[in-house]
Amino acid sequence: PRRFEGKIVLLSAAAQGIGRATALSFAEEGATVIATDINGEKLTELSGTKGIQTHVLDVTDSAAVDSFLETLDRVDVLFNCAGFVHHGTILDVEEKDWDFSFDLNVKSMYRTCRRVIPKMLKHGGGVIINMSSVASSIVGPPNRFVYSASKAAVIGLSKTIAKDFIRDGIRCIPVCPGTVETPSLEGRIQAQPDPEQARKDFLARQPMGRMATAQEVANLVIFLASSDASYITGKEYIVDGGWTL
Ligand code: NAD
Repeated sequence: PRRFEGKIVLLSAAAQGIGRATALSFAEEGATVIATDINGEKLTELSGTKGIQTHVLDVTDSAAVDSFLETLDRVDVLFNCAGFVHHGTILDVEEKDWDFSFDLNVKSMYRTCRRVIPKMLKHGGGVIINMSSVASSIVGPPNRFVYSASKAAVIGLSKTIAKDFIRDGIRCIPVCPGTVETPSLEGRIQAQPDPEQARKDFLARQPMGRMATAQEVANLVIFLASSDASYITGKEYIVDGGWTL
């Protein structure tokens, strides 16, 4: 059975990587998918797909988020996927880097959740999945200072939303992947002085000897958003191939 027949799913960062795989999976399961991304050109690759509507949206732009969300009456599932990985220790993080990471990785979720939750309340509930990472309050990998701080904030933000609206039929869950083979990961590898070594370092922290596919993370998001996970809320869900064992 298709688990999202008749459901409206809104997601960010849908043009590539985990967001794209998740958008396609929701559509396959019968959802009406509203796939958003800042990258309009890349997003058009999804626009021919049955069940998917695309919309250019920068989740760091409060006015744009507000006016887009005003056009939607109902949202059953919100997947906040957009995020950015800054590399470096605290000594490499200027205030503008801190602000950018928190703006994109955390405040974007505040922007969308505060506009979507009233719609969920009006329609009797919904599910919010927020993209965190095991690089957060779970592990502190080297050179991910502001990234880990921001992804830890996502866990806190998600737990308090889960608790505040638990009697209203709203579930909110942070998902925490390990290393996932995506275009941005590839870009980050290629940007290192020794890309070959950088790839080996990423693989070395993955005990399965391989990275996750975007689909393996999408599978978790779909499960958590579905009624199969109806008794699950608030708790961080790890999909890390054993990194944190
Ligand atoms: P990606 O980084 O390859 O793609 C990110 C997408 O986000 C792009 O399509 C980009 O255009 C879009 N985007 C960037 N800024 C935006 C903005 N302001 N508004 C809207 N969209 C914007 O995708 P990914 O690697 O699958 O990462 C997606 C999420 O998963 C991120 O939050 C990331 O931190 C998290 N994550 C990734 C990994 C990994 O190893 N790849 C691991 C754990 C968590």
